[in-house]
Amino acid sequence: MLYINGEWRHSLSGNTLDIYNPATGEKISNVAYCGKEETREAIEKAHDAFQTWKQTTGQERAQLLKKVADLIRENGEEIAQTITKEMGKPITEARREIISGSNYVEWFAEEAKRIYGETIPAPQIDKHLMLVQQPIGVVGAITPWNYPLSMVTRKIAPALAAGCTVVLKPAPSTPLTAIKVFECFYKAGLPKGVVNLVIGPAEEIGAELTSNPLVRKITFTGSTTVGKKLIRDSADTVKKISMELGGHAPFIVFEDANMDAAVEGAISTKFVNNGQTCICTNRIYVAEEIAEEFGEKLAAKALQLIVGNGLNESTQVGPLINEQALKKVDSHVKDAIAHNGEILCGGERMEFSNLNGCFYKPTVINHANDRMKIAQEETFGPVVPIFTFKSEGEVIEKANNTNYGLAAYCYTSDLGRGLRMMRELDYGIVGINDPAPIVTQSPFGGLKESGIGKEGGKQGIQEYLEKKFVSILIG
Ligand code: NAP
Repeated sequence: MLYINGEWRHSLSGNTLDIYNPATGEKISNVAYCGKEETREAIEKAHDAFQTWKQTTGQERAQLLKKVADLIRENGEEIAQTITKEMGKPITEARREIISGSNYVEWFAEEAKRIYGETIPAPQIDKHLMLVQQPIGVVGAITPWNYPLSMVTRKIAPALAAGCTVVLKPAPSTPLTAIKVFECFYKAGLPKGVVNLVIGPAEEIGAELTSNPLVRKITFTGSTTVGKKLIRDSADTVKKISMELGGHAPFIVFEDANMDAAVEGAISTKFVNNGQTCICTNRIYVAEEIAEEFGEKLAAKALQLIVGNGLNESTQVGPLINEQALKKVDSHVKDAIAHNGEILCGGERMEFSNLNGCFYKPTVINHANDRMKIAQEETFGPVVPIFTFKSEGEVIEKANNTNYGLAAYCYTSDLGRGLRMMRELDYGIVGINDPAPIVTQSPFGGLKESGIGKEGGKQGIQEYLEKKFVSILIG
């Protein structure tokens, strides 16, 4: 179903979209599939709703958002099952997403009360200067499938907290989770038109969201290619934009690192969500003298990972989202082999007699080199190459030799070196001996072609506010 102006709706055409479980290949549901007309109506209703929503106090918005957070938690198991069924991640990870997704809503509920302005010291006694912050207006939000709950809440919660209204287009593979979140908005009693959900063809909905002058802000999470197109398309109406785009994270292990902690860190940053995370490790750089031991230990751990249907409690790695994703992963592996890579484990598709999904064996590639595609491109799957390096300077140069700049990880027991790496790595997020740097409080976002703006943290709400300078001549 679509959700427009406080009503659950079918599409005008009656078209629907079938939703499949990527672990089993089974159809699990179908949803209304709409186009430009419904999107335009949703924008207009969001614009109408903005006129009153922007007049509410931070306190009032906070109360409603807290109810939403509670409802997500109360319905957490059902939503987690939906996440796993429609995108495949292990149920244990889906439950963690319930926690992080609802925490974002609670965090921004609290931030709604902290939208401060500034008083600026005036250069003359008869003037009073101020900077006030106001909600920007209607927000067009476009989200991917890999974190179908938290990508939605990390955008909508700060937008609503700021006093904006929203039209969301979720990924077509994971609309069911978005619908569940909207049921929470509905039950919490958000006024009609404040949040709207449209599901349909990306180009058509994207064109309406980016060209319609009533939309004042586009927030997008997805690939860099699509992000660049949305930036270009938003230019004609000069919208504010936030872009959370692709990653190509380096994971650097120095000779003085705690080896076991680094191996554990590499496993978790690589294989969480089956490698389908923008901050996933995509390249491991290990100091030459410890590379062999590191590779053996990493491959031994990767071999132990339990691959299967995410609904089984013991599963650690689920299926890839679709056949196209699996083909990309396999092409990176084949290309690495063609460039003298050595497969330490995995390296091929995994078949199950009772499942019809896109499973790939957790794969570790040794002797990686810069001629391999995987050295340049985001793989978005359970494959990791090991490169070696001789010096700190060399590894900094290699790690930064990419247009991406989202997340980087570094393992060392030398504090000075850790601080130098923090300074030198051209990445928006740096984990030093920390494989899980992201919490609700983190300002999440990339540098270079990995994005513009921040989500989460106290910075997240700023993306939905505009600043107005006021000068009062006191006389
Ligand atoms: P994607 O192909 O860019 O799609 C993301 C969303 O954009 C989907 O809803 C998609 O809908 C929509 N879309 C595609 N073309 C569009 C257009 N012309 N106009 C409007 N919307 C359009 O990315 P994905 O494959 O779903 O997600 C994986 C990518 O997201 C990776 O590169 C990953 O690194 C990145 N990501 C980044 C972050 C971050 O925070 N930086 C977080 C998660 C993921 P359709 O599917 O219908 O095309």
